[in-house]
Amino acid sequence: MKAEIVSIGTELLFGEIDDTNATYISRHLTSAGIDVHLRHAVDDELDRIVQVLGAAMRRSDAVITCGGLGPTPDDLTRQAIAQVTNRALQTVPAAEQQLRDFFAKRHRKVSSNNLRQCQVPRGGQLLGNSVGTAPGLLIEHEDCTLIAVPGPPPEMRQMMTDHVMPYLRERLTQQQQSSLFTRTLRVADIGESDLAQQLEDILADQSDLALALYASPGEVRIRMHTKAPSQQEANKKLGDLENSVRQRLGEHIYGTDDETMEVAVGQVLVAASATLAVAESCTGGLVASRITDVPGSSRYFQGGYVTYSNELKQQLLGVPAQIIQQHGAVSEECAQAMAEGARQSSGADYALAVTGVAGPDGGTPQKPVGRVYIAVADEQETICQQFDWPGTRSQFKQRTSQMALNMLRKRVLGLV
Ligand code: AMP
Ligand code: MG
Repeated sequence: MKAEIVSIGTELLFGEIDDTNATYISRHLTSAGIDVHLRHAVDDELDRIVQVLGAAMRRSDAVITCGGLGPTPDDLTRQAIAQVTNRALQTVPAAEQQLRDFFAKRHRKVSSNNLRQCQVPRGGQLLGNSVGTAPGLLIEHEDCTLIAVPGPPPEMRQMMTDHVMPYLRERLTQQQQSSLFTRTLRVADIGESDLAQQLEDILADQSDLALALYASPGEVRIRMHTKAPSQQEANKKLGDLENSVRQRLGEHIYGTDDETMEVAVGQVLVAASATLAVAESCTGGLVASRITDVPGSSRYFQGGYVTYSNELKQQLLGVPAQIIQQHGAVSEECAQAMAEGARQSSGADYALAVTGVAGPDGGTPQKPVGRVYIAVADEQETICQQFDWPGTRSQFKQRTSQMALNMLRKRVLGLV
C-alpha cells in the first residue's frame, strides 16, 4: 500500500509550528507496513489543497490529511475533499446531535460554523473525536482511501489509534500484505563512519533485510528492518542479522530498541548490587537528571553534586586547592579528585565525575572548548578519560553525559 500525507495549515508554511503530525503519522503507517512515498505541506488555500489532494489520490492507495477541519473559515479541508471527489456535502444527523449535546453541556450556543463540522461528502463517513469537537472523515474514492484527521496533535493521535490504523490494517489484510518489523541496536562509543566500515559487507548486502545507521550526539543507532507476514518470521530473520552484528560489536552495543543509556546503566548497577553518586561541573546536573529518568533509580542512585565553582569543588568534594591551582578545574587530576571525593562523602560504591569546557567561551589553547575529563572511582581505582567534542554547548552536554554513563557501565561490567 502506497501512502501520502498532506499537512494543511498556513502556520506550517510560515514556519511557526513544526509539522510533528506528519512525523507521527509517517511512523505509524510505516510500522504497519505501509509505504509512505510523499509528504506535503500546503497552506489554507482551497485551490492549492484541491490540486495537491487530486494528484496524491491519483498516485497513491491512501492519502491522509491533517489540519483544516476546525470551525473557522480558514479550515477548508472538508470543502476541498468534497470538491476533489466531486461529491456534495451532507449533514450526518447523529453527529449533529452529538455536537449539540456537547455544547449544551457546556452552556454554549452552537454556531453554523460548528455545524459544518457534521458534514461529510456523500458516501463518506465521519470519524469520532473523543478529545475535541472536530470529527475526522474517511472516504473511498476511485481506488484511494482518503482520510482527514484534525490538526491538534492530541486529537490527531487519538483518531489515528482509534480509527485510521484499524481501518488501514483491515484494508492491508485484504491485500494480504506483510508488516514491517524493526529492531534497533544502540552503540555509544563508535562513530558513524567507523561503524559503517565495520559493517560494510552487511550494509552492502541488503535484500529483504535492511540495515541503516542513524547518528545523534553521543550515539549511533543501528536500525534493522524487514517485511514479514508475522512477528515470528520477522524475529527469525532479524535475529540472524542481529547475531552477526553483535559478533562484531560485542559490548559496544549497550541497548536495544527504546533502551536508553541510563536504562542500561541502571540494569548493570542492579545486577552488581552497587550504588552510585555523581559529581558534575560542566553538565550541570544532566547526568543525575538522566539517571533519575529511570523509574526505580532510587535502588542504586544515592545523589549528585553539581559543583560549578572551584570553591564548591573544594568544599563539597574535598578537591585539594593545590590541584586546582596547579592543573586547573578542567583536568584529569581534578576529575579524579571529584570522583573520589563524591565516593567518599556519599559512601556509594561508584562515583562518576565530569569537568570540562562547554563553550562557546572560556577555551584556551591548552584547554580548548569541547575538552572534557570524565572519571569513575570505585573501590579499586579511579580511571579517567579525556575527550574533545565538536559542536554546540547542548551537544557537548548531551555527548558528555552519554559518554560518562557509558564509561560507568563498562567499568561496572569490568570492560575498562
Ligand atoms: P487545524 O485543525 O488546522 O485548526 O489546526 C489546529 C491546531 O493544530 C493548529 O493551530 C496547530 O497548533 C496544530 N496543528 C495543525 N497542523 C499541525 C501539524 N501538521 N503538526 C502539528 N501541529 C499541528
Ligand atoms: Mg488550520
